[in-house]
Amino acid sequence: MKIALDGPSGAGKSSLAKAIAREMHIVYVDTGALYRSIGLFVRGRGVDPKDAPAVIACLPDIQLEMVFEGGEQHIYLCGEDVGDRIRTPEISMYASAVSAIPAVREFLLETQRSIARKTDVIMDGRDIGTVILPDAEVKIF
Ligand code: C5P
Repeated sequence: MKIALDGPSGAGKSSLAKAIAREMHIVYVDTGALYRSIGLFVRGRGVDPKDAPAVIACLPDIQLEMVFEGGEQHIYLCGEDVGDRIRTPEISMYASAVSAIPAVREFLLETQRSIARKTDVIMDGRDIGTVILPDAEVKIF
């Protein structure tokens, strides 16, 4: 079962997704955390997140793994759990800037699809119902 949840920011997507995941005993995947992790990496390298060629040059060094422990999502960036370090206002800005780079979206496409192949999921975020999981059984906007 794959559920795609899309919609404008501030619409309450993540609260709804978490509630559905709990109710249906499926995994909630917060895709924004992946973009945030790329933002964190880029910041660590001292790269301007709007400098597309410089961000793209970072991609081959970025290893991302999403692990679900007791229903909680953990993101490992190059083997290290990034925890709340991706939840700062500065990293929100970095995530937003890197997400505008098509090569970054392409880079995360397979990461997101592979999670949905392994387990039943509800995923929220931009492009989920159209690009990432076009074959989702349920799409909510
Ligand atoms: O949802 P969250 O605030 O954690 O997302 C961080 C940023 O990542 C958003 O501002 C958006 O630019 C980007 N994003 C995206 N596509 C997604 C999820 C997040 O472009 N599927």
